[in-house]
Amino acid sequence: MKDNSYIGKRIEAIRATLPQGVTLIAVSKYHPVEAIEAAYAAGQRDFGESKAQDLVVKQQQLPKDINWHFIGHLQSNKIKYIAPFIHLIHSIDSLRLLQEVNKQGAKVGRRIPCLLQIHIAQEETKFGFLPAECIAMLEEGTWREFENVEIRGLMCMASNTDNREQIDEEFAAVKNLFDEIKGRFFARDERFSIISAGMSDDYPIAIKHGSTHIRVGSSIFIE
Ligand SMILES: *Cc1c(COP(=O)(O)O)cnc(C)c1O
Repeated sequence: MKDNSYIGKRIEAIRATLPQGVTLIAVSKYHPVEAIEAAYAAGQRDFGESKAQDLVVKQQQLPKDINWHFIGHLQSNKIKYIAPFIHLIHSIDSLRLLQEVNKQGAKVGRRIPCLLQIHIAQEETKFGFLPAECIAMLEEGTWREFENVEIRGLMCMASNTDNREQIDEEFAAVKNLFDEIKGRFFARDERFSIISAGMSDDYPIAIKHGSTHIRVGSSIFIE
């Protein structure tokens, strides 16, 4: 059997560097249930997955007090599988998807917490609203009718680059956008409070720019 004892040590080492109020999400995609159990034994309760099917299988096998985060590209036809239990969907990238989550939330009698994913990186391949599109969607106002979703904040991925200045600028831009959206649309809604930014290679920069939730995979699970 594989020795997974490094996993708990990695988690403890990362946690020791985090300021109060920053939530560590252990991104367990591609890693087996045994690896998640090792993290769980170290007290980790927030886990992120990027495929609905994998998430459902793991949710069924693992303890029920885990907070499951959906961080991948979400297909409308898969929402129903995660709707009953998902803790936070990080990857809302269209009004239509938000509407579908709302519909599935109604079916299971939940208000499903969601983040709006912002496309901030240079890469074309990444998903998300452009900042102006996100503002336009919020201005348009249909989202206010959705009673079974809760918009809790923003999510982003920085460019995959060694250029630290560029990453710095991207996270700063998302913080500015968060502040603008908070002021204009959620000033009296204290639940709008999450910035999900930062992965293994860039989470310290994200935290510097107000990230409240970091999504760390390889630094925890790759030996
Ligand atoms: C895989 C993934 C992560 C974790 O990336 P690491 O570099 O392994 O820490 C974070 N966020 C998203 C959206 C991912 O798909």
